[in-house]
Amino acid sequence: MCLMVNAIYPGSFDPVHNGHVDIAKRASVLFEKLIIGVYDVPSKELMFTTTERVNMFKEAVNSLPNVEVVPFEGLAPTFAQLVDADFIVRGLRAGYDFEYEFEMTHMWRNLVPELDVVCMMSALEYQFVYASRIKEVAKLGGNVDNLIPKNVSNAIKAKLKR
Ligand code: ADP
Repeated sequence: MCLMVNAIYPGSFDPVHNGHVDIAKRASVLFEKLIIGVYDVPSKELMFTTTERVNMFKEAVNSLPNVEVVPFEGLAPTFAQLVDADFIVRGLRAGYDFEYEFEMTHMWRNLVPELDVVCMMSALEYQFVYASRIKEVAKLGGNVDNLIPKNVSNAIKAKLKR
């Protein structure tokens, strides 16, 4: 059953990994349209540009017809209003995520009270998958191919060759 409402799933996705894709798949069943918002931040700490992060996520979810991937700047609740979304989707892993998402939800509600946050838990095998750890292990030559889409694995390898 579909609730006929839109939701955004915001994040930096540097890069997208299977935990993010798992959340996107689960949320795509709940909402009429899921708009993945890739945070457009020109940070030196990121491995990939905004365009690269958007394109990698697009390719990873191209089998999901009601999912769109776009860049966004600024506050997530403002982005939600801009694309006519009533909900913000976030993913939960075991450990720290709950406290962080709890605080963030209340800050967002302080800005846009009618907006609500839906937290979803990824599958057990992705509970300890973090983009930062994927990058760290890949840089040290470790194989993380079971945790990331194929296109992301190729992109990381190409980036590290340079
Ligand atoms: P990461 O934490 O991997 O660097 P982001 O900060 O871009 O990724 O995360 C965007 C959203 O996806 C956040 O709500 C985060 O909690 C969620 N998320 C990230 N990784 C996972 C995972 N393995 N399982 C479930 N949710 C996740």
